[in-house]
Amino acid sequence: MAVDLLIVGDGLAGSAAAIEAARMGASVALVSAAHGSSDRAQGGIAAATLPEDSPRLHALDTLAAGGALCDPSAVAMLTSAGPETVRWLESLGVHFDGGSAREAAHSLPRVLHLGGDQSGSTLMTFMRRAIEREPTITRYRARLQSLIVDESCGGASFSGGLTMRAGATVLATGGYAGLYGRTTNSRISNGKGILEAARAGARIADLEFVQFHPTVFDGIHTFLITEALRGAGAILIDEHGERFVDELLPRDQVARAVAAHRGRAFISAVHLDPDLLRHSFPNFVRNCRLAGIDPLRHPVPIAPAAHYTMGGVVTDLDGRSSVDGLYAAGECARTGVHGANRLASNSLLEAAAFGRRAGAAAAGAPKVEDASQVRRRPWRRGSLTVAQVGDVLDSAAGVLRAGTELKGALAELRSGAVSSVAADAADMASMICAAALARPASIGAHQRRDEADRIAV
Ligand SMILES: Cc1cc2nc3c(=O)[nH]c(=O)nc-3n(C[C@H](O)[C@H](O)[C@H](O)COP(=O)(O)OP(=O)(O)OC[C@H]3O[C@@H](n4cnc5c(N)ncnc54)[C@H](O)[C@@H]3O)c2cc1C
Repeated sequence: MAVDLLIVGDGLAGSAAAIEAARMGASVALVSAAHGSSDRAQGGIAAATLPEDSPRLHALDTLAAGGALCDPSAVAMLTSAGPETVRWLESLGVHFDGGSAREAAHSLPRVLHLGGDQSGSTLMTFMRRAIEREPTITRYRARLQSLIVDESCGGASFSGGLTMRAGATVLATGGYAGLYGRTTNSRISNGKGILEAARAGARIADLEFVQFHPTVFDGIHTFLITEALRGAGAILIDEHGERFVDELLPRDQVARAVAAHRGRAFISAVHLDPDLLRHSFPNFVRNCRLAGIDPLRHPVPIAPAAHYTMGGVVTDLDGRSSVDGLYAAGECARTGVHGANRLASNSLLEAAAFGRRAGAAAAGAPKVEDASQVRRRPWRRGSLTVAQVGDVLDSAAGVLRAGTELKGALAELRSGAVSSVAADAADMASMICAAALARPASIGAHQRRDEADRIAV
C-alpha cells in the first residue's frame, strides 16, 4: 500500500499531525496498536491564556524546570503556540471545562482541564471524532515492526504482513516509561518507535532523562495516586507511622525521598474526612478497594514509578529527524522543549503543537522515491524476559542511580533475549542505561548516588 504520509501512533501527537496533513490534501495512513498515554492524562494542557499570563512567563517556568538543558528556541515555539493551539483544538470541537488551574511549578494558573480529572480520554474522544470527519485519513490497527530505509525513510512494515510505503513517515509512538517494571504508562509505551529510528540511523538524545511519579500503588497492579491527595492533606509515612518527607515538596523531591527511604512507604489518608475522600477522590478509593485495601481505614503502600520520558528522536522545530523522510512528534521526539525535566502539563501541549507542525512539514515535503531496503536486526538468544528487562531498569536506571549498577545492567541487557519482543526491550533498555551512564550528574528527575565519590576523586 502507498500513501503520501504514514503516521505511526494515534495519540494526541499523531492525531494532530494527521488532521493537519489531511487538511493540506495529503492521503494519510494512521497506524496504531493500542491507547497510549494521551488517553491516560488526568491533569490537563498548559497554555498562557489568561490576561496576566504570557508565553514569555510560561517559557521562563519551562526553562527553570528543564535544568538549563532546554533549547530556548524550542521553548519559545512551544509556549507561544499555546493559546493558538487551544483555539485550534476548540475549532475541532474540543470543549474545555473553563478556567485555568495553577499546578506544579507553573507560576500562574495555566492548566486547562477537560472532563474534570479525565482530561486525556475526553480530549482523545474529541480528536477521534475530528479524524472521522477527514476523508483522506485511513486508520489501521497494527504494530510497528521496522522502518523501510535506504538513503531515506520510505515507510514501515507492521504486524499482520502490512507494509506501508509513504512519501514521508511521522513517528508519534509515545515514550518509553512503559518499559520499566513500575510504570504509570501503558505497556505499549515501550520506545519501539525510538528504537526503530535508532536502527535506521536517526540521532537519539536524552534517554537518561526519565520523570518518576512519587505515589504509585506498590502492588501487583499499579495505579497512580493523584498528587492532589497530598494537597488535600494526605501524609507519607513509614511502616512505624512516622512521616519522612514534606509532602508538599515538588514531585521530583518527593520521589527521591520515597526512593531513598529504607523499608516500605505508605500514603495515609485515614485522618481525612471520609466524605471528602469518597467525593473528591473516587478513583483512589475505588482502586485501593479493588486492590484489597480500604484507604479510609488503612495506609496504602506506594513506590515511585516511571511516568514521562524526556529523551527520544532528535528533531528540528518541524519534527524533521536526521534521516530524510522521517519525522517524529510528541513524547517520542526530543525537540529540546523539556531539557532534563518536563514542566507538568507541557507534554499535551507539545504533542498537539509539534504534532501539527510535523504533519504540515511532512505533508509538504518532496516525495521520497524507492526506499526499499528493510533493515532488521537478527534475534538474539539468551534468557531475559520483557518483565525482567523492566526490573533491570527499575533497579539500575530509576530515581537513584550509580555507575557500577548501570554498567552491570548494561552487561546483563547485552547478554541477549529470547524473543524478538524481548530483544527490542533489551535493546531499548541498553540505550537508556548507556545514556544514564554517560550522564554522571544528578540533574532533572534522577539522582546519582555515586556523585559524591567522583567529586572526592
Ligand atoms: C497517567 C498519566 C497522566 C498524564 N497526565 C498528563 C497531564 O495531565 N498533562 C500533560 O501534559 N501530560 C500528561 N501526561 C503525559 C502525556 O499524556 C503524554 O506525554 C502525551 O499524551 C504523549 O502523546 P503522544 O501522542 O506523543 O503519545 P501517546 O499518547 O502515548 O500515543 C502513542 C501512540 O503510539 C502507538 N504506538 C506505540 N508503539 C507502537 C507500535 N510498536 N506500533 C504501532 N503503534 C504504536 C500507540 O498505539 C499510540 O497510538 C500523562 C501521562 C500519564 C501516563
